[in-house]
Formats: sequence, C-alpha cells, structure tokens
Amino acid sequence: MEFTEILKENLEALAFSLTDNFCYGCYKVVDADYCPGCHSDDFMRHMSGVGVEYGVDWVIEYLVKEHCRPVDAEALYEEMLNETCEVVRIGSLEYSPGMVLKEVDPTAFRCGVSDMLANDEQYIELDGDYYQVDDIEAMAEKLKTPGQ
Ligand SMILES: [Zn+2]
Repeated sequence: MEFTEILKENLEALAFSLTDNFCYGCYKVVDADYCPGCHSDDFMRHMSGVGVEYGVDWVIEYLVKEHCRPVDAEALYEEMLNETCEVVRIGSLEYSPGMVLKEVDPTAFRCGVSDMLANDEQYIELDGDYYQVDDIEAMAEKLKTPGQ
C-alpha cells in the first residue's frame, strides 16, 4: 500500500518543518527563503545528525523507522486466523487454526501473510518492513505538536 494523499501531504509538511534549508553550492544551512551567499532557493533538506539530501522522501523514511515499529506480520496473520476460523479438533485434542496452518502448510501460510499485507490498506511497506498506517499517523500527529 502507498501512503494516502492526505497522509503523504502531512508527512511532507512534517519533514519540511523538521529540516533546514541547505544550500549545496555554499554548503551551509540557510535560515531564509533565499541563500544570502548565492541567492539560490534550490535547497536540499538538512536534518541535524541525520543527513542532507534533496527531497523529503528520505526524511519521511527516517521518521517512520525511528518512531514506528514494524509489524510482526506472521503473528498478526496467525491471530487473524485464530479469530476467524474454527478450532481444529482431532478426537479430544484442540489446536488453534493459525498454528495448524503454519505447521501443516507453511507455503500457504506465507502466501496468506503476503496477501494480507498487500490487500489490507492499514499496512505500508518500507524497505521490506511493514508499518501500520495508524502508527504513522499517530507519529505525524505527535511530532507536529512538540511538547504536547
Ligand atoms: Zn548559497
């Protein structure tokens, strides 16, 4: 899943507010709309202690990785199976459906995990890890109003 437009806009605004204008030509942070040295407004974004690059995608990535925890997709899928499928009974023995599928057909289990991640709009992929949209939204909200 991709970020929704609204969340993307919020994250971009946040990334801008948490970074400084940086003039590559003069190689310094600029606290103005134009660089006093060369009058350029083609700024890179600079984040103290993190880096300096063009664009804000790298800032957003950093913020998500720094403030949100990737989901344990297998555990979530197993939980979902346990909530939606019937307990597996063999004689008087009972087994949770999530555990049964994982053990009996690991391939089908992994496919199920992939399908869940691809089709559920609450998950966003970043560098092979999946994050919950809710967590990212909460992070954006929290960082937007520091000290509150
Ligand atoms: Zn400059």
